Amino acid sequence: MATVSETGTLNPPQIRQTGILIGDEFRPSVSGRTFQTINPATEEVICEVAEGDEEDVNLAVHAARSAFETGPWSRMDARDRGRLLNKLADIAETHLEELAALETLDNGKPINDARAADLPLVIDCLRYYAGWADKICGDTIPIRGDYFCYTRREPIGVCGQIIPWNFPLLMTAWKWGPALAAGNTIVMKPAEQTPLSCLRLAELALEAGFPPGVINVVPGYGPTAGAAIVRHPQVDKIAFTGEGATAKIIMKEAAQTLKRLTFELGGKSPNIIFADADMDQAIAGAEFGLFFNQGQCCCAGSRLFVEESIHDEFVEKIVSRASRRVVGNPFDTETQQGPQVDQAQFDKIMHYIQRGNAQGAQCLTGGNRVGQRGYYVQPTVFSGVTDEMDIAREEIFGPVMNILKFRDINEVIDRANRTFYGLAAAVWTRDVQKAHRIAASVRAGTVWVNCYDVFDAAAPFGGFKMSGIGRELGEAGLANYTELKTVTMKISR
Ligand code: ADP
Repeated sequence: MATVSETGTLNPPQIRQTGILIGDEFRPSVSGRTFQTINPATEEVICEVAEGDEEDVNLAVHAARSAFETGPWSRMDARDRGRLLNKLADIAETHLEELAALETLDNGKPINDARAADLPLVIDCLRYYAGWADKICGDTIPIRGDYFCYTRREPIGVCGQIIPWNFPLLMTAWKWGPALAAGNTIVMKPAEQTPLSCLRLAELALEAGFPPGVINVVPGYGPTAGAAIVRHPQVDKIAFTGEGATAKIIMKEAAQTLKRLTFELGGKSPNIIFADADMDQAIAGAEFGLFFNQGQCCCAGSRLFVEESIHDEFVEKIVSRASRRVVGNPFDTETQQGPQVDQAQFDKIMHYIQRGNAQGAQCLTGGNRVGQRGYYVQPTVFSGVTDEMDIAREEIFGPVMNILKFRDINEVIDRANRTFYGLAAAVWTRDVQKAHRIAASVRAGTVWVNCYDVFDAAAPFGGFKMSGIGRELGEAGLANYTELKTVTMKISR
């Protein structure tokens, strides 16, 4: 049984911004409507937030378009864009505690994780792309004839950015960093479950000196505010992170205006443990790779393949660790696992646990809710999972570990690839041959060897197959926010 920590008191931060940011003003929605954002630890309403819709999106796009075409941003030196991004990173750093607390309040993630993982990665990402702003270069190209040919990397224009609730601020930074470094302007829609940290960061961006209209934020629902951004003819690109089903809707709608699209979607990532791995490290990595962020990671190691000869020992040890995880108040610094983000996610996870039991997997620990209030799920481990079971095929997005047994490397490569997803994979082994073989054979955008969830702003991230289109982070992420222009000039001889 997981223990529920009772110590620690909720110490919610002050909520400063709940409006729609258009230009340099936080406003109510045109319709006057608001929606509630809920504290997942208590199921209580935190506050009302302005509910953006098509009319608000139209205003936000207009502000972004003007800023892109005629505002000071359009004439700003690249180095000064970098300076603004660095300044935002510095201000975010001085507000680290406040932003981490907002994230924990709205999302439910343990405050330790928000402080030690989310916020440092946010700040690092902004600084990394600040450095790129004045290093976005074209080429000179030796074409045939008396011509001088060169390329320029120009901003795409107004970028619609639609993000999920699992890493609200980090997804904001992944989207803003490269877009702003390249000189684009932004209309962002945060997830309806978690709008608060993004709104506060937007306020800090104004404080940093970003000109009005460069960053606009429209909180609201997907099929209304989100769809209006996707439809808008003056939006040039959509960067979306979320579910594959939503991406299909967006792709279809965006086809009308042939927008540039980048998608970062779901996964069912294989985490492969060979018998020759360092057992303690592999167990710690398997636990972290699945249970981190309440299992709400698109790259969670949700198919844990364990080699037959160590299977039983591994299962015993991982069950012991899972059952000792501290579940409870996310503001308690002892807490390792907070609540799931909302009732819908909680219900989805309980449905999958029920499917796992019904389809014959063995639930060795967990399987139930924790307490009566808040969306808490026990850390759950299933063994005896087979490839056909729902829990091995579909994304659960919760603290549910599925252990599958394998015999040899060829078999595990084949089974690891038998999925429509291709976001991430990991392998644990002391054998460098095996490590390289897996790294080259698994069809996934990221492969971790003897580690898991190692993220860096410089390292590209994204999906093969139905896990995404394009890449975020690194130089590749930046390229997805630029248009390539070829200039050819006649040279007289
Ligand atoms: P999740 O399960 O992570 O909530 P979604 O794909 O439903 O995944 O949501 C991710 C983001 O996409 C959220 O900001 C949500 O509001 C938005 N969204 C949902 N439906 C649409 C849509 N039809 N058009 C545009 N955005 C949408």
